[in-house]
Amino acid sequence: IGEKKSVCPILEADWDDLWDQFDERRYLNAKKWRVGDDPYKLHAFNQRESERISSNRAIPDTRHLRCTLLMYCRDLPPTSIIITFHNEARSTLLRTIRSVLNRTPMNLIKEIILVDDFSNDPGDCEELIKLPKVKCLRNDQRQGLVRSRIRGADVAQGTTLTFLDSHCEVNRDWLQPLLHRVKEDYTRVVCPVIDIINLDTFSYIESATELRGGFDWSLHFQWEQLSPEQKAQRLDPSEPIRTPIIAGGLFVMDKSWFNFLGKYDMDMDIWGGENFEMSFRVWMCGGSLEIVPCSRVGHVFRKKHPYVFPDGNANTYIKNTKRTAEVWMDEYKQYFYAARPFALERPFGDIESRLDLRRKLRCQSFKWYLENVYPELRVPKDSSIQKGTIRQRQKCLESQRRKNQEVSNLKLRPCVKIKGEDAKSQIWAFTYTQQIIQEELCLSVITFFPGAPVVLVLCKNGDDKQQWTKTGSRIEHMASHLCLDTDLFGDGTENDREVVVNPCESSLMSQHWDMESH
Ligand code: UDP
Ligand code: MN
Repeated sequence: IGEKKSVCPILEADWDDLWDQFDERRYLNAKKWRVGDDPYKLHAFNQRESERISSNRAIPDTRHLRCTLLMYCRDLPPTSIIITFHNEARSTLLRTIRSVLNRTPMNLIKEIILVDDFSNDPGDCEELIKLPKVKCLRNDQRQGLVRSRIRGADVAQGTTLTFLDSHCEVNRDWLQPLLHRVKEDYTRVVCPVIDIINLDTFSYIESATELRGGFDWSLHFQWEQLSPEQKAQRLDPSEPIRTPIIAGGLFVMDKSWFNFLGKYDMDMDIWGGENFEMSFRVWMCGGSLEIVPCSRVGHVFRKKHPYVFPDGNANTYIKNTKRTAEVWMDEYKQYFYAARPFALERPFGDIESRLDLRRKLRCQSFKWYLENVYPELRVPKDSSIQKGTIRQRQKCLESQRRKNQEVSNLKLRPCVKIKGEDAKSQIWAFTYTQQIIQEELCLSVITFFPGAPVVLVLCKNGDDKQQWTKTGSRIEHMASHLCLDTDLFGDGTENDREVVVNPCESSLMSQHWDMESH
């Protein structure tokens, strides 16, 4: 298939003598999983399995065969690799670094900058700087990944910045194709294809290449299949894929371009939303985003965050995404608020300096972005928000939330007013996506049998278990065609009814609901 594009020898470094200074066994043994402990407790992945695997292990080369025929010249400029971490497992952190040292030509690594985001154990920096090329900074308080990455970028000496998560394994020749694209055009921000390191078994799994980043109006990232037309246009499977948004953790960007475009929004905390802000800004202010299929990096995808969000996970995500919407989305931010009505009342700090930046850079409008970069994102016809109490006679639907919990209970309780206002736990919104939502939680039904309890879970767009239609005074669950109802199975008292779904029966008063707007 095809001819070799350019022929340059790849020099692999001989690291052996450099490794002597680092006592790997001592480093790993000091923080090992102990028999009897839950191996998922600290990191939300199988720590025990990770520790069984060598830090040097081989992984399958998942690139298309065509990629193996491309050769990259050695005159690519060396890059600064920036890895921030907060309480990362030693085994995964070390494997990330070793995979970089093993599978990257030495002359392309300016340095590896670790930023320890105030992990409980300060020992990682002290040990890991014994590794070749490795520097380490430690924050003296928790900053979150955005400010940590900026700190790393500010000290970087390379002309490009390469960001990685702290639980990755880079694959063969991962860096050259990325640096090549940025060298050709410094306004490109480029990502590898992110392969999957299974969180239970740590097996390395190839992911599909014909994907790009997308999102919905609630500003949740999702991978999207290329359309049939886009696929048909791709004659060469090694060609980069332009993407509306990047996943966020793994990318290469020219350092001057990073600085010129305003780095990151410094007021975003802990985790989340920064990839939207970065992606909108890059596209709208003259750059582009792409995924390079010949570059492969494995990443441990987790189901939840193992670390603490000092302000709560949902609050932080809403603050960060709201900042993005307010600065970059112009009048289209109404669709974000229609999908996340409770974000409207949330504090999001001062955005003046980011608005100044946008003016100074003379960036395009969000309308331009939608038309030119992401025409596939449908603009909803209706962005109205219906918000208020959901009543059954004198009683109200009420959430019983525990702080920072992702699931909470639902009850029918006497309606409560506090200083003339409806109680927060009794205010709901019907969204245009047909969800019944309170803060970040949605009414959902897990099983579809009559009498099944209605629960409150994290909202997920496109999940028909969370969709409801209101016809007259009935609220029907779309996936099961059952109706919102209450019964006495709770503690048996009239004051504490359980909320359930039952076959629709218009004569039943317990299926009769009124929405009283707020
Ligand atoms: N991280 C950090 N400070 C934080 C939260 C996260 O430095 O307050 C690091 C984390 O250790 C990881 C990267 O940021 O290297 C991305 O976080 P995570 O892997 O949890 O996000 P995900 O990949 O699940 O989106
Ligand atoms: Mn990660």
